[in-house]
Amino acid sequence: MSRDSRVAWHARWVLPIAHPPLRDGAVVVDGARIVWVGPSEEAEAGRHEQLGEAILMPGLVNAHTHLELTGLRGFLEGLDFRDWLRVLTAVRAQVLSEADLLDAARCGVNEALRAGITTVADCSASGVPLRAMRDAGIRGRLYLETFGPDPRQRDESLRSLREGVARLQRDASPLVTVGVSPHAPYTVSESLYAAVAEYAREERLAVATHVAESAAETAFVRDGTGPFADRLRARDIPVQGTGLSSIAWLERTGLLDSSVLLIHAIHADAADVARVAAHGAHVVHCPISNAKLGQGIAPVRAMREAGIAVALGSDSVASNDAMDLVQEARQAVLLQSLHAAIPDALSASDALTLATQGGARALNMDGLGVLEPGAVADLCAFAIDAPEAAPVYDPTVLLVHVLGAGRRARLTMVDGNVLVRDGVVLGEDPSVRVRVNTAAERVVAWRRATE
Ligand SMILES: [Zn+2]
Repeated sequence: MSRDSRVAWHARWVLPIAHPPLRDGAVVVDGARIVWVGPSEEAEAGRHEQLGEAILMPGLVNAHTHLELTGLRGFLEGLDFRDWLRVLTAVRAQVLSEADLLDAARCGVNEALRAGITTVADCSASGVPLRAMRDAGIRGRLYLETFGPDPRQRDESLRSLREGVARLQRDASPLVTVGVSPHAPYTVSESLYAAVAEYAREERLAVATHVAESAAETAFVRDGTGPFADRLRARDIPVQGTGLSSIAWLERTGLLDSSVLLIHAIHADAADVARVAAHGAHVVHCPISNAKLGQGIAPVRAMREAGIAVALGSDSVASNDAMDLVQEARQAVLLQSLHAAIPDALSASDALTLATQGGARALNMDGLGVLEPGAVADLCAFAIDAPEAAPVYDPTVLLVHVLGAGRRARLTMVDGNVLVRDGVVLGEDPSVRVRVNTAAERVVAWRRATE
């Protein structure tokens, strides 16, 4: 590696995450790797890029999305969780084609890149977001979803999951990999969970599942009652209470281990937190989606104290309504303080750690989420030249609490490739957004016709 091939990116503040903030710092990149981090005046490189009044940090890791739902932003306002899911499922099946879902996913990936997100972990039933991620050059994982609340569906669900994974693996790349996701306890039988756990272990596939998201789910798993139980009984699917929390029940299926990412984990008591920690499973916290749907506040502080790797996720924009991991970090800070009734139960700096290094740990992706020699060159930078951005006592507080929503990245780099400069996704195709808007008109017409 010659000095000439190195590029030094300079900024007023550098946040290495694993080390304290650096004023007037630089990150030197060579190809796809970071080779040096330190004071600006000591940076040695063939080319120097000045980001100016900006915060330069590792690219953000969004550990839970549903990119193919990007076109449904704002469509499901005010519905309770069960109706939200019911309408969402119907519109996806009856109105949106695979081409519509792909366009929506492409818009979602571009939104991620503009927000400084360099890694996305997406759950999808169609699998199409994998193509959107790969074509855009973002890093990511596509967890292919499986459903089957009736134990009699197990073999069929597993067979189509295996086929789907084989098909997607042909499209995978060094940056974008494939995992599996049994959707949730009220859509997946105990025997299907167990079968997927075994399959994932055999094939060394990463696993994610929605769990302990709602009070309705707890009633379903523990008592065999509530809206999810009623819906399954109406379909002649037998339902029995287990007397267990969702997470204890998941443990019984054999799914809890270090490859598993638990999505939400809101309704988790101290015994559940200990269970997750004992199995080395990981959690992705989606505070804005959880607040918006009225689901509750996950015990993130207790999870971190138990040594659990916790990531942040935006969930879909159909329950959020924006993909902005810095706002997610802010919401996490505010909710944890409310939950614990003390200030800074989670500090701004802790929250940025969850949004970067925490995400990398939770996804078992080594060498990202921090700025240090040897880490991958996934970077983002945000301008801090707004009038309210001074004085700066702590750049992490400035970024999380002061700079408002909607800010766009001055730089987003994935694997050494610059994908965003000054808030603009390089090479973005504007026709995709036009088609997503056209699909939204069909969604509205469908609603009028079915009401
Ligand atoms: Zn989700």
